[in-house]
Amino acid sequence: MGWSITIGRFFGTYVRIHVTFLIFLAWIGVAAYMRGGMEAAKQSVAFIVAIFTCVVLHEFGHILTARRYGVHSTQVTLLPIGGVADLDKMPERPYQELLIAIAGPLVNIAIAAVLLAVAGAFGGETLQHIEDPSLGLVEKLAAANLFLALFNMVPAFPMDGGRVLRAALAMWLDTDKATRIAAHIGQAVALALGFFGLLYGYPILVFIALFVYFAAAAEAQSSRVHSAIHGVAVADAMETRVVSISRGATVGEAVDILLATSQESFPVVNASGELVGLLFRDDIVEAVRGGDHNAPVAPFAHREIATISPEQSLDAALRQLGAAPALGVVGPNGRLLGLVTRQSVAEVMLIKAARPDWRFSRGG
Ligand code: ZN
Repeated sequence: MGWSITIGRFFGTYVRIHVTFLIFLAWIGVAAYMRGGMEAAKQSVAFIVAIFTCVVLHEFGHILTARRYGVHSTQVTLLPIGGVADLDKMPERPYQELLIAIAGPLVNIAIAAVLLAVAGAFGGETLQHIEDPSLGLVEKLAAANLFLALFNMVPAFPMDGGRVLRAALAMWLDTDKATRIAAHIGQAVALALGFFGLLYGYPILVFIALFVYFAAAAEAQSSRVHSAIHGVAVADAMETRVVSISRGATVGEAVDILLATSQESFPVVNASGELVGLLFRDDIVEAVRGGDHNAPVAPFAHREIATISPEQSLDAALRQLGAAPALGVVGPNGRLLGLVTRQSVAEVMLIKAARPDWRFSRGG
């Protein structure tokens, strides 16, 4: 995620803060300062920092549990709406997803229990030091942690409760069906939340409900993609009528090829047809900006390209594709066979939507 500042690395995972979180913190500080001066500002900011430290601990509950099942997380980012840990894949078994999802809220419950025990231990002296604001802070922080645990257990994506629900359903149903049912329940919960917010005048609740509603829809959509491409091989779906650019081509020649085709990604091949790079439309535009018509275009190509072999699954290709525009498909000798793009995946989905039992045959 862009616009984030790394504050450290813990247990092998980078903890990053998004700029919007710092703005949020500054806003809290200024608002408190206007109300009650410097002391109030310090207290408000300290309280928010304490809550978000608990949010980070919550994320580490997910991260460290996931690691036990071989799922790694390179970074966790703090946003004003909470923490986001990017897990590199789904765990293999539903019970693992359930444990990973529930570990976060359990961390908050544990923190609340410890804080309440601390507050309780000083309970006898509280009466003598009733004016001490730090004791109230401990109790407020415990309450905030209980709220975090409860809020995250709302059974709707992207909340942990949605994942717990999906994992529980997936123990009886197949994953895609479980995701769709969980997403529908999530959308119903979001509608109820939004309605409640409108009825009783909580705009923040309406905002959260909208966010949850669209997150649930996105999860259902990604599940539909997943079930449509399941069992399809890269060889079935890849684009094979692809125009390549030879490694020795000039910028002028690359522009001609760009204009003559509707492709957005161009494989760069050497004399023996081996894939040596990828040129995207933006790279060619960049090369044009550089000026010379007769300059070689190869320096503008991406050399570190992800490739996949034709017998691998389209599932695996989609995961590797990530945010990249295209993935090169190469044979055992490194020769270019085709490209996988988002368009390839979309077309498989169109065919599957028209005829769910359609058998793709190109791959043999
Ligand atoms: Zn969580």
